[in-house]
Amino acid sequence: MTNVDALLQSSRQSSDDGQHRLGAGQAEDALAAPSATALQRAQARELLTLHRLRLGDYQACVQQGLLALEYFTEHGDLLAQSKLHCTLALAFTDTSLNETALRHVLGALGAARACGNPVAEFWALSRSSLVHGAMGDPARSVDLGTQALSVAQTLNDQETNFVALNNLGDTYLVMAQGLIANDEDAGEPLTEALTLMTEAAALAQVQGNPFNEALACSNLVSILIKLGRHDEAREHGRQGKTLSRAHGYRSLEIDIDAQLADLVRAAGRFDEATAMMEAQLADPDIDEEPKLLAKLHRSLFEMHKAGGRFQQALHHHEKLHAVMLATTVQTAGLQSQMLINTIEMEHARHELERSQLEAKMARIRAEELDDQAHTDPLTHLSNRRALDRELPWMMGLAERGVQSLCAAMIDLDHFKQVNDSFGHGTGDQVLTILAAMLRTITRGTDLAVRVGGEEFLLVFSDTSIDAAAQACERLLASVRSYNWHDVAPGLVCTVSVGLAELEPHETVSAWLARADAALYDAKHAGRDQIAMAARDLLVPVAP
Ligand code: GH3
Ligand code: MG
Ligand code: MG
Repeated sequence: MTNVDALLQSSRQSSDDGQHRLGAGQAEDALAAPSATALQRAQARELLTLHRLRLGDYQACVQQGLLALEYFTEHGDLLAQSKLHCTLALAFTDTSLNETALRHVLGALGAARACGNPVAEFWALSRSSLVHGAMGDPARSVDLGTQALSVAQTLNDQETNFVALNNLGDTYLVMAQGLIANDEDAGEPLTEALTLMTEAAALAQVQGNPFNEALACSNLVSILIKLGRHDEAREHGRQGKTLSRAHGYRSLEIDIDAQLADLVRAAGRFDEATAMMEAQLADPDIDEEPKLLAKLHRSLFEMHKAGGRFQQALHHHEKLHAVMLATTVQTAGLQSQMLINTIEMEHARHELERSQLEAKMARIRAEELDDQAHTDPLTHLSNRRALDRELPWMMGLAERGVQSLCAAMIDLDHFKQVNDSFGHGTGDQVLTILAAMLRTITRGTDLAVRVGGEEFLLVFSDTSIDAAAQACERLLASVRSYNWHDVAPGLVCTVSVGLAELEPHETVSAWLARADAALYDAKHAGRDQIAMAARDLLVPVAP
């Protein structure tokens, strides 16, 4: 394994262990390694996307994520694309850029379905549910979460099943909170939430996954509080707190402490609740949790106000205001920076596309010029130069015995008279009409060339001399019977043909000279006819 691969693997392990600062460092080292390949750099960026997200460094997360996404899109790696879209969607919802998040979940879902990977589809559906929830569409969120759960149930993977149950349960809780805020009945979604979360907690216990179990406990507390089942809520809260403390899940423990304080408040023991919340505010770790900080200040403001302690109420109100303002300012700054990053990346991509397009156009133009150089402008048949290009490889095939070749040298009879009597324009028309006839008697693998003036050469590939003669007879008949009167009254045209089959070991010039000589014979014999070339007597015949 290379050094870079080892770094990438360590970074992946750090991600599994939740050691995101360490993992980010390892991925940065891999990215900076001079020996890193483009794929390894993209993989390092993919890891950085995840680590930076978990560390709350959204700008770096988005920047690396978009770069990695570009690589995997260019290389058609749908699974990697789907995963990156999922991570980016989370970064954008976390910073309230929901429209952008939506674009990424759609990308995730599209890529997952295109590669037919059910695990990726599960994550994309689950993330879509989250984004729609954040956008204030709980019905769609529940619908997507339900789809995610049914995909998870086909996967036979406990972790995925836990995530599916936990997320959908949480989605129902959010839906219920919305209904409660509008004084509407939330009984049904709360019951759904409770069923799902109870199942999630049981699954986590079977799995022996203390983090998931503590998380489910905390979510159960929120649901049970809303259902007014305080004793059960307190029981789950204690269980979750014990697990969190034992395993060092600090932020989860802080959340549960706040829930326990909420429970005391809901029981009407305001002084006790106030003391619990004030104690929590004294904890320095809480500064890392702005949402919880706001929640605590709001609760304390409400309780102090209800208790007539206006001085304290005012204090918490001001604190609440400051936290909200800081969050808003920070979010706005992040949003603008992330949008600028996105726009810059898109600009770079457009530039790349533009230069690729220009290169492609230059290539097409060169091909067009090449075609022009090999095409006769009047008849659009190939010209003599094309002959030099095409004949060698046709002859190569013939020489290896793959095919026989026949050359038909064709010349309009008394064409000088046509020009003299009907004008050069009519002469040109005759040439064009003849060219069309030549095209109809040749196949794609044959060659039809205007070698000069009123002289044409057909090379029939893989054709016996008898079959070539038949084709030329048909040509003669077509020319003879063509309604030339329509071109110019009194006009009559015929052609003469000299036919020669390529002999083994014969050179091009010898072969075409024989066809030419045959054409001369046809002219001499009275025109409007075909003459077969004599076989070249100089060519040694195999014994
Ligand atoms: P033959 O039956 O022996 O071939 O007699 P001919 O008159 O066809 O032969 P000759 O070589 O004497 O004349 C060829 C004529 O073809 C002379 C020239 O003006 C004409 N010609 C060559 N190129 C073109 C062209 O591009 N357009 C027109 N209209 N005429 C052309
Ligand atoms: Mg002629
Ligand atoms: Mg001629």
